[in-house]
Amino acid sequence: MTTVAPYSIDDRLYVLRTRWELYQLEGQFEQFIELAVAINSLAEHFNRMRLPGLVRLCEGLENLVLTHLGEPASHPIEQRDQQAIQRQLDALLGAVASARPQAVERRIEEPLEALAAEVDWIKPRSVWVVSTPDRQGWIDGLCGQLQYFGFHVSVLAWGQDLPVEDMPLAVLLVPGLGADPEAYFGHITALRTRCPASQLFYLGAPTVIEPVVALMRAGVDVAIPAEDQDSMVLDRILDLVQHAEQEKYRVLVVEDSRVAVALIQRTLAQHSIDSQAIRDPGTLLEVLESYRPDLILMDMQMPRFNGIEATRVLRQMSAYSTMPIVYLSGASEVGMQVEALRLGGDQFLTKPFNPVLLAAVVKTKIERFRETLRSTKLDGLTGLLNHTAAKSRLNVLMQQCEPNTPLTVAMIDIDHFKGINDTYGHPVGDQVIRALAWLLKGRLRSSDLIGRYGGEEFMIALPGVAPEQARAVIDRIRMDFSALPHAHPGGALHATFSAGIASYPVLDTAAGLTEAADAALLQAKRLGRNRVEQAAPQ
Ligand code: GH3
Ligand code: MG
Ligand code: MG
Ligand code: MG
Repeated sequence: MTTVAPYSIDDRLYVLRTRWELYQLEGQFEQFIELAVAINSLAEHFNRMRLPGLVRLCEGLENLVLTHLGEPASHPIEQRDQQAIQRQLDALLGAVASARPQAVERRIEEPLEALAAEVDWIKPRSVWVVSTPDRQGWIDGLCGQLQYFGFHVSVLAWGQDLPVEDMPLAVLLVPGLGADPEAYFGHITALRTRCPASQLFYLGAPTVIEPVVALMRAGVDVAIPAEDQDSMVLDRILDLVQHAEQEKYRVLVVEDSRVAVALIQRTLAQHSIDSQAIRDPGTLLEVLESYRPDLILMDMQMPRFNGIEATRVLRQMSAYSTMPIVYLSGASEVGMQVEALRLGGDQFLTKPFNPVLLAAVVKTKIERFRETLRSTKLDGLTGLLNHTAAKSRLNVLMQQCEPNTPLTVAMIDIDHFKGINDTYGHPVGDQVIRALAWLLKGRLRSSDLIGRYGGEEFMIALPGVAPEQARAVIDRIRMDFSALPHAHPGGALHATFSAGIASYPVLDTAAGLTEAADAALLQAKRLGRNRVEQAAPQ
């Protein structure tokens, strides 16, 4: 069959439907595997788009398909098993159609060619809050913050009719104080069905596991205990929208067989994983340096030297000592497999490999590897680059600077922050730091550097932006930040920041820029705070 590189949801749905139709006609094992791959790819996509209700439906279908995987001789599967798959597929397609906003409904009937790029398919910016009157005060504070960050908030009572037009990004379920979660299961299930694409948050969850499991079964995605809700709710919701499109996973395939390479690359491509292949391990180090993969698929038997020897070399180099390496080997090489694991491989896949398994192994290993990288580079409180990572990113930006293109660095520091901590407590202080981080993330471009440089101090770098422009941008953020209410147990507080900016090419080293921006920041503090100052011309 022809393979269509699946780009949009529509493409993926089309691929899924055609594969299923083809299997129903011809009933081959290989086609059944392709069907499983297509479902997995759709689930992956919904997961990236943070559509947990749809992910769950895909997973249900995928599990059903995998239970019938069997072997070539067991295909086509029985008619009644096919009917069961058809029913689940219909349920999934129905849920996707109802989650789709009216305006783009028509697209699904358009020919595939018309859908060149990823359709801006669903961009809900609305949040529903389902609550009881006794939580009104707390709800008001939360709604104020959500509105400030650009959400449309609808407050509903439990059991009230749901808005017809709208598909919310998130639904916040707020039980009455001390209420038994079980009393709400009926409503939660109804909401889950009505909003398959939304995240359901239950605020004020018990801290024992059983009722939380029951809530999840009823359809809740996130159960937040009462004591965590002030700091977590806004954090999680903003994370849903601002979660940047992840860079594609990259896999380096080191394999001398052309056929194996073709099969592997095809499977990876179906899962939207980027790959590059080398057939001669002699070029390994150069290619690693230029391609920077997340994982290596390493053949055991190759000319010149084998996979184990190549791995031993990599494990001695600090840059590659933790990179996931998965071996591809023949089933008979058991002794060699033991030796290979001992010398630093992560896992084996035996040839001929099962494509579903290959993709699953690759994705799981890469997720974990990227998570580790994140934790060393990103600040835990804000998700911004930490001090060290921000400094090294600025060095990289400086190396890329062209003489005629400006670059502006700003140092930002929250005013009288010690007073906020002292008056309202550390957790409220943390929330103020997070709010500024989100505002910066929301306002700046993805190409800009945003780092948490110190406790309540941030560094930003804007490539291609001259000092006057940068000043205007930061001043706008400054004004908006000063208007933002930060909830605390007794009401809301307001905070301000001061900023200093300095630009390339007036200053031409990272250290020079940072120092000058710092000096300008100090000047802004001296001049009364809540203002932006530019470094004095050299
Ligand atoms: P100024 O206007 O001059 O900047 O005054 P300030 O009070 O903001 O300055 P100072 O540097 O004296 O205080 C910063 C405080 O920030 C001190 C420290 O306890 C607090 N801090 C540092 N990191 C964190 C954090 O992660 N969370 C919270 N809540 N406070 C932090
Ligand atoms: Mg080989
Ligand atoms: Mg400070
Ligand atoms: Mg300060």
